[in-house]
Amino acid sequence: MAEYDYDLLVVGAGSGGVRASRIAAGHGARVAICEDSRVGGTCVIRGCIPKKLLVYGAHFRHDFEDSLAYGWQPRHPTLDWPTLIANKDTEIDRLNGIYIKLLRDAGVELVPGRGRLIDAHTVQVGERLLSAGTILIATGGAPYLPPIPGIEHAISSNEALDLATLPRRVVVVGGGYIAVEFANIFTGAGAQVIQIIRGEELLNGFDDDVRVELARQMRTQGVEIHTRRQVVRIERHRAGLNVVTDHGEAIEADAVLYATGRRPNTAGMGLEEAGVELGRNGAIQVDDFSQTTVANIYAVGDATDRLNLTPVAIREGHLFADSVFGGRRLAADRTNVATAVFSHPPIATVGLTEAQARRRHGPVDIYRTRFRPLKHTLTKREEFSLMKLVVDPASDRVLGCHMIGADAPEIIQGLAVALQCGATKAQFDATIGIHPTAAEEFVTLRTKLAEPAARAAE
Ligand code: NDP
Repeated sequence: MAEYDYDLLVVGAGSGGVRASRIAAGHGARVAICEDSRVGGTCVIRGCIPKKLLVYGAHFRHDFEDSLAYGWQPRHPTLDWPTLIANKDTEIDRLNGIYIKLLRDAGVELVPGRGRLIDAHTVQVGERLLSAGTILIATGGAPYLPPIPGIEHAISSNEALDLATLPRRVVVVGGGYIAVEFANIFTGAGAQVIQIIRGEELLNGFDDDVRVELARQMRTQGVEIHTRRQVVRIERHRAGLNVVTDHGEAIEADAVLYATGRRPNTAGMGLEEAGVELGRNGAIQVDDFSQTTVANIYAVGDATDRLNLTPVAIREGHLFADSVFGGRRLAADRTNVATAVFSHPPIATVGLTEAQARRRHGPVDIYRTRFRPLKHTLTKREEFSLMKLVVDPASDRVLGCHMIGADAPEIIQGLAVALQCGATKAQFDATIGIHPTAAEEFVTLRTKLAEPAARAAE
């Protein structure tokens, strides 16, 4: 008789947990997965997918406007927000069903309820005590809202995806992925948006040229970006909310969205009691193979706060299952992970920013172009694409590719393959472009930018 109920018990049925359980079951393991919410996790239920559907929905406004220059006569189109939300919900329900079916088809038992570790081999889910040889924690993260007076009046991205009506005036606090994406969604949908950031530019960590270009284009679209500000309190009054900043402003709003980072979902799960070490903000400490400080307990995805992106969690979950149940021990490679921000226009990036490359490699060559895309030569829309390559002059290797502009995420995904293969600038140059596209600019960038000091003096 088996010593434990299962070979693997996964806590959390998001992207990482579902992938790990399916792959482990494919290797012959007896697997159960517990989940206290809907199967699919942040990405499918309250993140990437519903967010991107709202991005599509909000930006038809631009298409209707642009179509005029191409001879179309759209008659005063308006957005019915509740229809967008309802259709988005229908799609999320469908995906939730697909995820449940994927688990069932793989032979993984789904146990509804919140998992809590009793000891290194036992998890309590509701009334049940489940034992397993190996436990995987894949509980993801949750929005973090700083504890300022009136914060209970603010919403996070969770609620922003389900608003029954479109607020007329929205204050967005934060300058990261989520804040930028929702500022663009609400503006596209027709709301007035004020974004409050504590730094000078949006999207800390992205290439500076892209950050500056994004702010310029968002302002052109009507987003007011208030920099170097902190919100000190939020007050409710009869007509809405007042957002009070440390500059003494009182900004009126119908909704206040806080997108000030996310924290690992690890509190109250009995992890530390079982010997699992937690780090800053409750992040589960793991080695390169996602193993925690307890030998039979592993953790993947946002619960470990490494690189908090869905495809990374999926890779970590897959490699965990292959290592522990498939006899193939591999660590996740987190170099050249491409990422995108679904702003309008979108941003995508892979490899090092100019600043990171200068810190690591010293002098670097920079190639950059900024242009109005062909589509907007007729519409005259003040929308520009910016593309940039960062090259190591010693090896000629391309260290980073950055873009803001239509289709940037679709374009950069292909370039990520090139960077993974160690492509050089000479190889980019030897590639013949597809004409007329924006993407061809990446293989036709010939003129190096002057060094920063010379650029500053221009
Ligand atoms: P981010 O870490 O990207 O950004 C947090 C923002 O909030 C930053 O601008 C930060 O400022 C600011 N901030 C943090 N604390 C405070 C505070 N106390 N007061 C005021 N401002 C504050 O977090 P997000 O919530 O936007 O996203 C979380 C993660 O989710 C991302 O890191 C990403 O990994 C993932 N994600 C990925 C997406 C994608 O791939 N398209 C989309 C959405 C999320 P500062 O910069 O000064 O620190």
